[in-house]
Amino acid sequence: MVGKDIYQKLVKGYTEKQWGRDCKDLPSFIIKRLPVRFTYDNNYFDDPYQGVPKGGYTQIVEKLLEGIDVELNADYFDDKEKWDGMAKQIVYTGMLDKLFDYCYGRLQYRSLRFETKVLDTDNFQGNAVVNYTEREVPYTRVAEHKHFDFGKQEKTVVTYEYPATWTEGAEPFYSVKDDVNEPIAQKYKALAKEKNIILGGRLGDYRYYNMDAVIERALEVVDEYVK
Ligand SMILES: Cc1cc2nc3c(=O)[nH]c(=O)nc-3n(C[C@H](O)[C@H](O)[C@H](O)COP(=O)(O)OP(=O)(O)OC[C@H]3O[C@@H](n4cnc5c(N)ncnc54)[C@H](O)[C@@H]3O)c2cc1C
Repeated sequence: MVGKDIYQKLVKGYTEKQWGRDCKDLPSFIIKRLPVRFTYDNNYFDDPYQGVPKGGYTQIVEKLLEGIDVELNADYFDDKEKWDGMAKQIVYTGMLDKLFDYCYGRLQYRSLRFETKVLDTDNFQGNAVVNYTEREVPYTRVAEHKHFDFGKQEKTVVTYEYPATWTEGAEPFYSVKDDVNEPIAQKYKALAKEKNIILGGRLGDYRYYNMDAVIERALEVVDEYVK
């Protein structure tokens, strides 16, 4: 898509550290997600409207959930019978393989480790996110949170993001959608359909979604079930 120089500089090292595998062992669709433009538009995405909600996602989610009962810090699997007995319909947004006690085998995930620092400067990197594409640098990117919402604080908070292998108990951030995992995921999805459980989101659907895509998918699912 981009020729050897750009591939070596921007794509190869970054992709390999992100996925913990050589590029030759990864499916090509991963890279097809990367928009390629021959213009000076340095936005990542092609969408005409881009941004984050004013005040961040917490505010928008709080408003969406106004008047709805929410119980936090409750694991569905700690008291599955109680939750199943409370509603006619379950929408499950956790790990797809765990839902059925791994009966068709385990799905693979990638995880991340975050290291957050408070720095005594009002501006560390001048940008919300800077990516490090070299394989030798152990982190993939550094986020400086104040730049997402034009923070004027005297100090700054930065987070270094390190790719990590997923192990039991870690947060499963990304699904590994390849020829090994995809057929297993499909079997779990068929079982969910049979048992009338609605699957949702990146873990339930076992696929990568951006925020806009996951919201679009949620609206589609509502249409499918409500209409
Ligand atoms: C590191 C990272 C960076 C990203 N950057 C971007 C970006 O720059 N732009 C962009 O558009 N998108 C980005 N995304 C993608 C975006 O964050 C996701 O698409 C979105 O958050 C997915 O929403 P979701 O509802 O599917 O999943 P989640 O937000 O994971 O929601 C699932 C919910 O289910 C709950 N849950 C799971 N298991 C259980 C259980 N057993 N019991 C009870 N509750 C349970 C979880 O606690 C969680 O609240 C990024 C994702 C990651 C991981």
